[in-house]
Amino acid sequence: MKLYHNAKFYSMVIEGDYFSAVLVENGLIKECFSKKPQLLNVEEIDLDGATIFPGFTDSHTHSFEGGLYSLGANLNSATSISEVLELIATSPLVGNYKFAFSLDENQLKERRFPTKDELDKVCPNNPLLVRRVDGHSCVINSKALEIINFGEKLSTDFNGFLNREKNDIAAHTFHNTLTDDAIISSYMAANKIALKSGITTVHTMIGDAQYNYNHFPLIQSNLDKFDIDFILYPQILDVKKAIEVGSKRVGGCILADGSFGSHTAALTQPYSDQPDNSGALYQSDEFWNNFVLDAHQNDLQVGVHCIGDKAIEQIVNAFVHAQKKEFKNLKHQIIHNELMSDSSLELMKKYKISAVMQPMFDKLWGGENGFYSKVIGVDRALKMNRLKTIYDSGVLLAGSSDWYITTLDILEQLQAAISMTNKAEQLSVHEALTIYTKNSALLSNSNNGTIQNGKIADFTLLENDPFVTKSFLNNRVVAVVKRGTLINV
Ligand SMILES: [Zn+2]
Ligand SMILES: [Zn+2]
Repeated sequence: MKLYHNAKFYSMVIEGDYFSAVLVENGLIKECFSKKPQLLNVEEIDLDGATIFPGFTDSHTHSFEGGLYSLGANLNSATSISEVLELIATSPLVGNYKFAFSLDENQLKERRFPTKDELDKVCPNNPLLVRRVDGHSCVINSKALEIINFGEKLSTDFNGFLNREKNDIAAHTFHNTLTDDAIISSYMAANKIALKSGITTVHTMIGDAQYNYNHFPLIQSNLDKFDIDFILYPQILDVKKAIEVGSKRVGGCILADGSFGSHTAALTQPYSDQPDNSGALYQSDEFWNNFVLDAHQNDLQVGVHCIGDKAIEQIVNAFVHAQKKEFKNLKHQIIHNELMSDSSLELMKKYKISAVMQPMFDKLWGGENGFYSKVIGVDRALKMNRLKTIYDSGVLLAGSSDWYITTLDILEQLQAAISMTNKAEQLSVHEALTIYTKNSALLSNSNNGTIQNGKIADFTLLENDPFVTKSFLNNRVVAVVKRGTLINV
C-alpha cells in the first residue's frame, strides 16, 4: 500500500472539498484522510505540497493523427508560404512519408494554400500530406498523387488542394498504408504528449468516418503498452462492425455536417459572407434515424460530429427518435455542438443527450473580431460554444481538445473554458475542472474522475492551486499518478 501525502487532493465531488493524504492499494483509492494518518507497513510518498485533481480526461481526440503529426511538421505558427515550406523541408520522414498539420491559410500573408509545385520543391521524393487546421481540406505533392487512387482522373491543372471526399481519400491512403510499427509509434507519441499535459485518460476516434475502422483491433490488443487509458471509438457508420469488435460505442467525427472554415457547417440561416450558402447536411434524416436506432437497440453509445444548428437539430432528433422507442441512459454524444439552438438544448436535457465540447474553439475563432463572426456575423457568433448555458442546464458536458485540431494541452483548455469571449458562457474554475474530470468519467461510465474510496487512483499534480490563483496560467503539471503509480512528466 502507498500513502500519498503532503498535498491538497481536491475530490471534485463538492466544490472546495479536499483531503491531505490518500491511501492506495492495487491501483485503487482505499481511503482518503483530512490529516496524514500514522499507518504501519505503508510506503509513504511525499508530494511536496502539490495541488492534486482526479486524473484529467480528454473526451474527444484523434490521437492517431495527433501522435503521427507530432512526428512531422507543425504549421500552426507559420505566417507565410516560405515559412510553411521551410518547416516541411526540415521535418523528418515518418516511415516513407512526410506529414504536416495545422495549416491555416488565413494566417499566411499570401492568404492561400501552398501549391503542389511549391511542395514538390521541398519534398520531391516522398509522398507529402499537409492538412488544414480543421482537417477538412489538405494539399499534397506529386509523389502523394502517385499513391492515391481517387477513382477518377484529376484535372490537368490540379494544384494540390483537396477537400470533402478527396481530402478524406488522401488522408486515409496515407494512414492506411503505414506499417503497424509506425501506427503503434503514433499512439506512443500520443501517450507521451498526454502524460506531459497531465492527462491520464484519452477518448480516441479510430476509423475513416465511413465503413473502415483501420487499425482498431491493433490498438485494442495493444492497450496495455500505454501508460494512459485510451477509450476507443470505432469511428464508422457500421453498427455491426462495432459490435463485432466488442465496442460499447460507435461514432465520433462521423459527419452530420462539415466545418465553418470550409463553409460546410449546416445552418438554418445562410452564412453572412456567403448569403446563398447555408452549408449542407451530409446524410438524410432517415439515414441517421436508422443508424442511431440500430446502435441504441444494441446498447451502443453513439457520438456524431455536429457543428451548425441545423446539423445539431438533425442528430438531436435522431437521438430523441431512439429514446422514444426505448429510453436508455447511454449518454449519446453531440460532438462539438458549436451553434446550438435553445430548442435543441431543451431536447438534449429532456432526453439525456450529452455534449462533448472544445473550449479552445472559442479561443481560436470566437469573439466579435474572430473568424466565426466573419462567416456568420457577430450576433450568431456570440451565441456559440455555450459552455455555461449547457453546464447549468444539467446536460452532461464533457471537455475535450479534438486533438489534432487543437493542442492536447489541458491547462490551455481549462483556461479557455474560464475565459470564453462571451462572459456569460465562462465556466468557474470548479466547473472547468469538472468537465475534464467528473463529467468525462460519467460520459464513459469510468470508475475515476473523482477522488473517493474505491475509485481508480488516477491523479494529476499541479504546481499551483488554481482555486487560489483563479487561473490556469503560470501553472505546471509536475507529475501524474496512473492506477496508483507515480509518473514524473
Ligand atoms: Zn473530432
Ligand atoms: Zn469533428
